[in-house]
Amino acid sequence: MDIPISKVAERLNLEEDVLKNAIERRVITLCKYRDKRYLVFKKKVRHVERGTVLFLNERMDVVMGYPKIRRALVLDPTVKKYFIDQVVVEEKLNGYNVRVVNIDNEILGITRGGRICPFTTKKVLKLLNTDILKDHPKITLCGEMIGLNNPYVPHYYPEVDREIYRDESTVIRENLGLYIFDIREGDRSLPVEERNKLLEEYNVPYVKPLGVFNKEEIEEIKSTVVKLDRENREGIVMKDPSMLVDPIKYTTHYTHCQDLAVAFRYTFDLGIHFMFSRLIREGFQSYEFNEGEKEMERRALSIGKSIIYPMVESIKEVARGELITEDFELYFDSEEDVEEFLRYLKEVHISYVVKEREVLKNRIFRVIIGKVYPSTRDKIKSYLGGSLW
Ligand code: ATP
Ligand code: MG
Repeated sequence: MDIPISKVAERLNLEEDVLKNAIERRVITLCKYRDKRYLVFKKKVRHVERGTVLFLNERMDVVMGYPKIRRALVLDPTVKKYFIDQVVVEEKLNGYNVRVVNIDNEILGITRGGRICPFTTKKVLKLLNTDILKDHPKITLCGEMIGLNNPYVPHYYPEVDREIYRDESTVIRENLGLYIFDIREGDRSLPVEERNKLLEEYNVPYVKPLGVFNKEEIEEIKSTVVKLDRENREGIVMKDPSMLVDPIKYTTHYTHCQDLAVAFRYTFDLGIHFMFSRLIREGFQSYEFNEGEKEMERRALSIGKSIIYPMVESIKEVARGELITEDFELYFDSEEDVEEFLRYLKEVHISYVVKEREVLKNRIFRVIIGKVYPSTRDKIKSYLGGSLW
């Protein structure tokens, strides 16, 4: 496959045998984006995180995988036990993780799994002042791409409504934004204040702290969670101001229900994988928030509805002979960009159908892509046809 094994092994501090073996098992794969060839770690190999990318360029640039953020099931005593002194509470945005880097003077958007995504890469150029990466080429900007019009996690955020075209008769809007939450160099994160200062200097949008608390101030942290829940937002990520310990996360009832609703719409594709963890989170949350009979009943009802309504809806859809898809409305600048992205989806083995495709004013290309969930359709169809469980 033309991979300089010994050089790569040395660069990552891995033994050659370990590297060769991982390549044979396809845990490490060789990918291409335009003229760039790069290796992707699909799983953790020794100390090298999942999602790590190694570019096969002159310098063999490495972009580390974004580390997992562990979860608190109860805030008390977890926060007190875990943090050193102060805790920065940030909003947890519900989108997809993007690492933005400068490789040989080209700005690239890398997904959590370690692929250079052509959609993301092009949007990054519109959403960020990339001078920051020209002046500091060694840093990785880590952020959350959010909004309705992205191909991975479509979730509406009012603050990222952008007008992309307007004349007397038409307005075209795209709901998409990128908020940076971490600046990394190697495997080190910049302290929160330093991060914010640098981002402000370049006018780069970032996740703003909801508050800085003493680690004993759990009630205040709980209040921010209650408020976010009411506003239908995902949750919080808590960080040490100097980033000396890893961040931890905590999410809202609203999000758990949302997740269940999505999971049960695609019953046999996502249901099993999502259900148990969300229910456990709800159990601990109900306990920690000291719920009485009425509040618990309300929680139980909304959990139940999130499960049963979307599932029945899917069964009805299959019964009517419809395809179960998750639809993404995306805006592109050219026909080539659309084609490049569709090729990319094939490469990463996402099956899809193109549901709508039109050219709007100012040569804006609007596409609706339906991601296909095959197991859900096939299994529902088979049970409806009389198959036994
Ligand atoms: P993980 O492996 O980290 O648990 P996951 O796929 O289960 O990831 P999430 O439950 O969404 O993902 O939680 C972690 C992710 O949250 C981060 O990878 C990041 O993309 C996202 N995120 C959103 N807002 C923030 C923030 N303010 N700080 C850190 N991460 C954030
Ligand atoms: Mg997420």
